[in-house]
Amino acid sequence: MRWNTYSDYLRKKYGQNVFRIGVDAGFSCPNRRKDRMGGCAFCDGTGAVAVYQRSGESAFHHDSSYDSSVANSAPHCSQDIGKQIEKGRAFIRRRYGESAYSIYFQSFTNTYGTVDHLKAVYDEALSYGPFKEMIISTRPDCLEDDKLSLISSYKKRGVDVEIELGLQSANDNTLKLINRGHDAASYFDAARRVKEHGLFLSTHVILGLPGEGMEDFLSTADAVNRYSDAVKIHNLDIAGGTRFEVEYESGKIRLLSTLEYLDAVSSFLAHLRPDIVIQRLISETPAHRLIAPRDFPDKSKFIAMLEKKMETEGLWEGSQYVAKA
Ligand code: SF4
Repeated sequence: MRWNTYSDYLRKKYGQNVFRIGVDAGFSCPNRRKDRMGGCAFCDGTGAVAVYQRSGESAFHHDSSYDSSVANSAPHCSQDIGKQIEKGRAFIRRRYGESAYSIYFQSFTNTYGTVDHLKAVYDEALSYGPFKEMIISTRPDCLEDDKLSLISSYKKRGVDVEIELGLQSANDNTLKLINRGHDAASYFDAARRVKEHGLFLSTHVILGLPGEGMEDFLSTADAVNRYSDAVKIHNLDIAGGTRFEVEYESGKIRLLSTLEYLDAVSSFLAHLRPDIVIQRLISETPAHRLIAPRDFPDKSKFIAMLEKKMETEGLWEGSQYVAKA
């Protein structure tokens, strides 16, 4: 491929396939409190839990119809961590055969609690191992140094530790518009401290947020380049039950077409530091919760289109990277 794929990175590092078991550890999100006006404008309140952890949802596939009853009920996973891990492991084993696993604290803000509470949750999850990696998804404004010290202490237990940090855009006006509840400086501060604690850092970004164009996408790429080891890139999509759903239905939001998104991602990749690992390239909102776009190709077709486009244009990840002071 013309970029560093996550699966290659894992195979090189561990000598085998490694799959994430995503769990909902019962955390909430500070940005969804009443005083923060209901969270990010694109958040449907499902906290991004793996579909196989929601009863009934794993039956949906890429071509399923949008189902407002499922999308708006925002079902929350209530199973204990042990059961979720068992379910995730069984699902992965059925689909991919015997593999190694990582534990992925995926839903909502997985550092939103006291240090003692975090320790109890992480310890319990790790007791169902072995896991190659412990991956913690969180927000820049919820990652104080005492939490980072706790998290980095798990490296001594023989597990690699990764922090997934949401940035979405490096443009403060956009962050305000989408009600992220933090600015780009807060992301840089958290990202720097994650690296000072010796942790692997992955950054989430969205390309195609309202009002943004190529200049914004490339400035977000520069922000990612500063501290990240990996990046997850999503196209903006509209999920049911979000503030963006209302704005999209009233014509206030225009989404990128597949071709526009291909342009955005290929340029974004070309401007990244060449060693950054690419963990995602397209949004994976399940079709039954997705209002728009409904005409995007599925992940494998999109990746084939992207590879072809970059080949035709002579682009590689990092081919237009310029180190910034
Ligand atoms: S930080 Fe995540 S869980 Fe919290 S409101 Fe934003 S998208 Fe939703």
